Amino acid sequence: MVHGGRHFTEPTVIDDRVLAEIERLIPVAPLHNPANLTGIRTAMALRPDLPQVAVFDTAFHTTMPESAARYAIDVETADAHRIRRYGFHGTSHAYVSRETAKLLGKTPEEVNVIVLHLGNGASASAVQGGRCVDTSMGLTPLEGLVMGTRSGDMDPAVIFHLMRVGGMSADEIDTLLNKKSGLVGLCGDNDMREIRRRVDEGDQQAKLAFDIYIHRLKKYIGAYYAVLGRVDAVAFTAGVGENAAPVREAAVAGLEGLGLAVDDGLNAVRGVGARLISPEGARVAVAVVPTDEEMEIAQQTYALVERNN
Ligand code: AMP
Repeated sequence: MVHGGRHFTEPTVIDDRVLAEIERLIPVAPLHNPANLTGIRTAMALRPDLPQVAVFDTAFHTTMPESAARYAIDVETADAHRIRRYGFHGTSHAYVSRETAKLLGKTPEEVNVIVLHLGNGASASAVQGGRCVDTSMGLTPLEGLVMGTRSGDMDPAVIFHLMRVGGMSADEIDTLLNKKSGLVGLCGDNDMREIRRRVDEGDQQAKLAFDIYIHRLKKYIGAYYAVLGRVDAVAFTAGVGENAAPVREAAVAGLEGLGLAVDDGLNAVRGVGARLISPEGARVAVAVVPTDEEMEIAQQTYALVERNN
């Protein structure tokens, strides 16, 4: 399930009460929750004997303090419409932060990790001792990093401007910012392989898109470094994070003062499994940690069904 609101902080066995709550959350996840509900109801009709578990993509982020989760807008209005920062990709951030601790030979409680989930959708999180304290996506997955087709952070007044001056409707702007922005809006491509190929051929539009992507990513690394105070590791994951060495190199370039660097040789290796790419003895470990959301969901589901049996 994409959206569990504030209510669902852990995997939950689905019953009528849970279905009603997921239904109540439709206004904050109008695209995802109805589709998820259809899947659940269909499976229930076909196999009524089978227990079903909802694993929420927002759950890992419910530990964020109010200072990180609230937008600085009128409290009554925000609460009336359940407007706050929920964060997404939680299953991946949970899995990768734990795997990163394992890679360092530590427990999750012992380490502070910045997780950079860079896929077609992209988000960063600050994980302190195994608990998420900040993440870059917000009420919806639109906030934060530059993504394949989403703008990420932007002055919200751009929206009023597009309505008043550009004559666009709310739905048109929604489509623009979610589907026609980010890398695809900037250069026409959202696949990092294609963008890098164009950059290597001297394509200036692709280079600018890449530079904007990296600039935003670097700002979040710096911000989460400040939020955490002490960082033990930065972990790159998902399609871009796991495969695009030039992105990893550019994201930490110039951050030696923060103890961050990549070893060019290690970064270039196309390995499988979790691995370190920072130079020997680096103050902060930089790692590539393949995500496995399906495995995480399966394990959480299995653990819960076992416990209930
Ligand atoms: P995901 O959403 O995690 O499946 O990531 C998909 C994205 O990963 C694609 O849109 C590409 O931009 C990127 N990607 C996948 N493979 C590679 C690769 N070998 N090199 C660079 N980027 C890649």
